Amino acid sequence: MKLSVILLAPLVLATAVPKQERKITYDGYKAFRISTEHDAAAVKEKLAGLSVVPFNFNTEEHLDIAIAPEDITAFEALNLTAEVMHEDLGADIAKHETFSAYEGVTAQAIPSLTWFNSYHAYADHMQFFNDLQGAFTQNSEIFTVGNSGQGRSIFGIHLWGSGGKGSKPAVYFHGTVHAREWITAKVVEYITYNLLVQYSNNTAVKTVLDSYDFYIIPFVNPDGFVYTQTTNRLWRKNRQTRTSSSCVGTDMNRNWPYKWEVTGGASTDPCDETYKGQAAGDTTEIKALVAFTQTLKNSKGIKLFIDWHSYGQYILTPWGYDCSLKPANHARQASLASGLATRIAQSYGTRFTTGQACAALYATTGDSTDYLTGAALAEFAWTIELRPTGSSGGGFVLPAAQILASAIEQWEGMKYLLAAM
Ligand SMILES: [Zn+2]
Repeated sequence: MKLSVILLAPLVLATAVPKQERKITYDGYKAFRISTEHDAAAVKEKLAGLSVVPFNFNTEEHLDIAIAPEDITAFEALNLTAEVMHEDLGADIAKHETFSAYEGVTAQAIPSLTWFNSYHAYADHMQFFNDLQGAFTQNSEIFTVGNSGQGRSIFGIHLWGSGGKGSKPAVYFHGTVHAREWITAKVVEYITYNLLVQYSNNTAVKTVLDSYDFYIIPFVNPDGFVYTQTTNRLWRKNRQTRTSSSCVGTDMNRNWPYKWEVTGGASTDPCDETYKGQAAGDTTEIKALVAFTQTLKNSKGIKLFIDWHSYGQYILTPWGYDCSLKPANHARQASLASGLATRIAQSYGTRFTTGQACAALYATTGDSTDYLTGAALAEFAWTIELRPTGSSGGGFVLPAAQILASAIEQWEGMKYLLAAM
């Protein structure tokens, strides 16, 4: 099936972006989980001067990092307590992150589940969504919330049930805000797929889709995602340039205009992985997402928002910006999150930790779930950090062989949550 004009046009624009940088292979990079002994600052000080790619931030317990080949000897001489996550990051990427080309479907056929056996290029993801929508034109449509900084469409799919389009409160998903978290798009795609395919033959799924309008955006940071495939697999931020710095990119999940100004949960350094931007909501993508989010709030309201991330296996409830505050419905949120973790574990025994974001993981300001809770009045706005835990290996490089299982356990979890909430 052909791509619609609305999706194809930005793709053409995007290919006009100048200057192709050399691809970083990560061959010979070694990744470690370092125990911080509750003093992450001291560990970071020891790492200063080494060529390090950080995987996580501000955590009390451990720092996960990749180290360039030339600095591995110097790192080992520091004698930190650490376990190996990747002996050779580049080799693991090549071995486990298998790619396939997407064949597409004949008119109005449902795409094959083989889609979930490997990773895919951005253009293939766009086509997959168009094909899926094309098979269910009665209760779905492709929408766009605007364009990214480099002109790519921030597209999504809207699903509805028997009440008709736009008649019910919103269930709203974001994937791939952090560009390197590839598994998130696959998981939201699997959930979308099953909502549509099972609507006609599964009573529980029919009830869910008859109760909510779903708005699912698999790539809220398309520029970053494309960059992870062309140039740097471990890129996290968007690709926005600023005149004030030669460093590129803002962490979109520190840029939302709610409690953005609170200190301690983001960086003011444009070169940092958690750079918050110069002003609240000053990224092209967040501007578009804020406007779209407000339209959902002002129509039927938002029942559930999930920002899908990896990795660490967490279900995180608000708040991110303050570790002592609890939302008014905290007890209900905690109970549902715990029920969700239980249901996820029933498929393959995968354990997810639940808790309030700030306390369970680390403080974050300007994050999506705080905005959705505080400024868009979503009843539940959560972050889910997918597989793996990190200590079991994998990090952002989740083997393609685990895509389907990751997706199935989340789909089982979502069926519980959507019925129970
Ligand atoms: Zn993330």
